[in-house]
Amino acid sequence: MEKSSRRILFALASLMCLLSQGFASTLRQEFKDEDTKFDTIDQMILNAETISEGSSNPFYFSEHTHLIRKELDMVFTMDELLEMEHMDRQKRTTAIKPTKSTKRWTNSTLNFEVEEKVFGTRDLYEMKKATQEISHYTCIQFNETSTAENRVQIQQGYGGCYSRLGMVGGPQELGLSTGCRYKQIIIHELLHALGLHHEQTRPDRDNYVIIRYDRIHDSLEYNFRKQDWRNIDSYQLPYDFTSVMHYGKKAFSSNGENTIETIYREYQDVIGTNPGLSLLDIRTLNNMYNCVSDSCDLKESDCGTWGFVGKDCKCWCPGTSRQHPVEYCFEKDKKELGSLDYTYECKDYARNCAEEKRKEARLL
Ligand SMILES: [Zn+2]
Repeated sequence: MEKSSRRILFALASLMCLLSQGFASTLRQEFKDEDTKFDTIDQMILNAETISEGSSNPFYFSEHTHLIRKELDMVFTMDELLEMEHMDRQKRTTAIKPTKSTKRWTNSTLNFEVEEKVFGTRDLYEMKKATQEISHYTCIQFNETSTAENRVQIQQGYGGCYSRLGMVGGPQELGLSTGCRYKQIIIHELLHALGLHHEQTRPDRDNYVIIRYDRIHDSLEYNFRKQDWRNIDSYQLPYDFTSVMHYGKKAFSSNGENTIETIYREYQDVIGTNPGLSLLDIRTLNNMYNCVSDSCDLKESDCGTWGFVGKDCKCWCPGTSRQHPVEYCFEKDKKELGSLDYTYECKDYARNCAEEKRKEARLL
């Protein structure tokens, strides 16, 4: 890579960080005063940054990790950013693309390890719910290990909620500070680690949402830069307002007003609020990780207008609620999809495990 372009990007990143520090606190102030029933996912991520012990700036270049954070919670190396920004012409054809085999987890298995004595039992329970939900609806498995070469290190990190994009090779960071330890945020960060971008940066997003740049400070506009079709693949699936990867209506607002206006008004209050995987999140992951076996004879057209072929080679249709995003299309299959059964046992590396075990023993 050319040294000059690396220097330019470094200078830009540093400037971006300096400029954005003041505006980040303005944003938080706006949100604190907001009288909303619940936070959207971007607000939760932003608030987690505020109350974390680490950095107080969510748009920063970390001196510790040498990673640059974009769009609140995605962290990249300089090289990755250069590839994505197409600044390095020689590497143009190898830009990050979710279909690229090196960015996928081998055998659809995401290896991970959890930093010791950082997370409490409730945090670990939320993690378990997140991994179970993803594994329940897709073929993706989670393997807890400290020895696999490629693995996600779930850690307190340097403040806020963040993840790398796809399997980057070697140990990779996934930071969860105190305010991030909820199922939907953990799913969101794991989906970044599995290779998903934010929905609102899809190349075709302008057909579905209007970004109100007049309500976003110039220094934060880069967070709405669209992806290039050379970098991402939508698998011909439609834009998804209900995706767990979609930010909320006021993301990066400078004045507390909406910054993402949905063209279809009924989705205005929906974006950024999904508690877990949406139907289209499931389909995207199925496609990315080839969850449907080649030996499956069923075709999508066999599953009706809204159905698709699930990982078990059966027809899956839209479910009854956001908590149940899919169900079997046909009555004969209904009993087999089952429901999620969360179980969790306190692990020795949990911050408060020993104490909880003592409490349990006293109660017995
Ligand atoms: Zn994100």
